[in-house]
Amino acid sequence: MALSRADLDLGAKPITGFAEHRRVVEDLIEQFRAIPADSPVRLAKKTSNLFRARAANRGPGLRVDGLDAVIAVDPDARTADVGGMCTYEHLVATTLRFGLLPLVVPQLKTITLGGAVTGLGIESTSFRNGLPHESVLEVDVLTGSGEVVTAGPDGPHADLFRGFPNSYGTLGYSTRLKIALEPAPPFVALRHVRFHALGPLIDAIDEIGASGSYLGETVDYLDGVVFTADESYLTLGRKTDEPGPVSDYTGQRIYYRSIRHDSTAPKRDRLTIADYIWRWDTDWFWCSRAFGAQNPRIRRLWPKRYRRSSFYWKLIALDQRFSIADRLEARKGNPPRERVVQDIEVPLDRTEEFVSWFLDALPIEPIWLCPLRLRESGRPDDADRRWPLYPLEPKRTYVNVGFWSSVPMTPGDPGHANRLIEKRVSALDGHKSLYSEAYYGPEEFDSLYGGAHYRRLRDIYDPDHRLLDLYSKVVQRR
Ligand SMILES: Cc1cc2nc3c(=O)[nH]c(=O)nc-3n(C[C@H](O)[C@H](O)[C@H](O)COP(=O)(O)OP(=O)(O)OC[C@H]3O[C@@H](n4cnc5c(N)ncnc54)[C@H](O)[C@@H]3O)c2cc1C
Repeated sequence: MALSRADLDLGAKPITGFAEHRRVVEDLIEQFRAIPADSPVRLAKKTSNLFRARAANRGPGLRVDGLDAVIAVDPDARTADVGGMCTYEHLVATTLRFGLLPLVVPQLKTITLGGAVTGLGIESTSFRNGLPHESVLEVDVLTGSGEVVTAGPDGPHADLFRGFPNSYGTLGYSTRLKIALEPAPPFVALRHVRFHALGPLIDAIDEIGASGSYLGETVDYLDGVVFTADESYLTLGRKTDEPGPVSDYTGQRIYYRSIRHDSTAPKRDRLTIADYIWRWDTDWFWCSRAFGAQNPRIRRLWPKRYRRSSFYWKLIALDQRFSIADRLEARKGNPPRERVVQDIEVPLDRTEEFVSWFLDALPIEPIWLCPLRLRESGRPDDADRRWPLYPLEPKRTYVNVGFWSSVPMTPGDPGHANRLIEKRVSALDGHKSLYSEAYYGPEEFDSLYGGAHYRRLRDIYDPDHRLLDLYSKVVQRR
C-alpha cells in the first residue's frame, strides 16, 4: 500500500512567499482553461477527509499540490497567508515556530484549511473561537468561471465570503486564505471531569461558556466524551508555560482511555501543545480499535508513523473497495453493516435529549461532544453577519456530537439509521455536517442549508455550472 508524501509529512515546509504562490495559481488557471467547456471540473487531491462514497473517477482533476503551503506569516499582526490545500499538519508546524496557532485546529492532520472552511470544522477552542471559517480575514477563490476573486467580509464579493463555508467546493476552490492566529502556549494542563448523568454535564458546559472557568480555574479548551449515560467526561484544558512532566499518547498508551476514571475529583494530565492539538489523530479518536491498533501486541508491532488518521483512511478505502468487513459479517451469518459516520450540531438545551435518544436508539459508543458558539467580532452588525449555508444562531451555544461507527443494516433500507438521525436532529433544531452520507429530500435540504441564497451565488460565480451543485454533490453523491 503506497503512502504519499502528504500522508507521511511530519513537519513544517518552507514558507513559500507570494511570488511562488502567484506562479502556482497561474498554473492552476491554465489547467482550468485546458479543461473542455463541456467537462466537469474537479480536484485531484492526494488526501481527503470526505466520508461519503463518490461517483467513479470523472477524468483528470486540477493538480493542487502547490497549494499545500504556508505563503507568509506575520507574527506582529498575528496572521498567516495560507494555500487553500495546506494541511493543518503543515500549517501548525509552521505557525508554532512563531509561537502562534490558528484559532481552531481540526483534529485530523490531513484536513486542509480550504477543506475545513468550505466543509466546516470544529475543535475544543470552538466554544470561544467559533468555527475555522470565522477566523478567515479574506479568501481568494478560483470560481466556476475560471477567474480568481478575493472575497472578504466587506467589499464586492462579501456575499461569496459569507456563502463559501459549507459550499463544499461547489462555488469555487480557495487558493489562498488569510487567517487570524492566536498565541500558543508550550503546554496544556488537562482536567478530565467525570459525570454520572448527562444533565450536570450540560450545566457545566453552560457555566464554562458563560464564565470561561470551572471551579475557579480558567478553561481555554473544552470537549467531552460520552461512554454511557452514566459515564461521561468533559476535558478542560488550560494554557500553561509551567515546565513539568508531560504524557505521551503517540506510543503504547491511548489518549481516549486515559480520560476515564471513577473519582469525584478531576483527573489531571499535561501535554505539549503539539501533542494536545493532535491528541485525537493518533488513534483517529477511538476508531483505530477496528483495525486492531489498540491491541497491545499488535500496537507494539505497528510502526509509529502509521499510527495516524491518514493511514487508517487507507485501510478504510481498502475495506470499501473489497467489502472486507461485509464479507466477514456474511461468514458469521450477519447482515452487512450501515455506516454511521456523522457530526451533528444541536442547541445546548436540546443536547441531553439528543444524546439520550441516540444512546437508546443506536449501539454506538463512545461519542464525542464539542461545544461551539459563533464568534463575536465586536462589530455592531455582528448578529446580521451570518453564514447562510450553515445557519447557526448568534449568541446561542450548540454542541457538536460526533459518532463514527456502523450498525447492522436494516433489510431493504440501507440508510435507515442515518435517516433516523437526520429526522431527530431537525426536530431538535439542529444541523448535520455534510462530509458524510446525507439523505435529505431537495426541499428539506434547501430549507436547512440556505438553498435560495446558494443558487443566487452559484448563478454569479459558476454561471455555466462547471462545478457540481451542492445537493448533487452531497446527497446524490455525484
Ligand atoms: C470520520 C470523520 C471525522 C471528522 N471529524 C471532524 C472533527 O472532529 N472536526 C473537524 O473539524 N472536522 C471533522 N471532520 C470533517 C472534515 O473537517 C471535513 O470533511 C473537511 O471538509 C475535510 O477537509 P479536507 O481538507 O480533508 O477536504 P477534502 O475531504 O479533500 O474535501 C472536502 C470537500 O471540500 C472541497 N474542497 C477541498 N479543498 C477545497 C478548497 N481549497 N476550496 C474549496 N473546496 C475545497 C472538496 O471538493 C470536497 O467537496 C471529520 C470527517 C470525518 C470523515
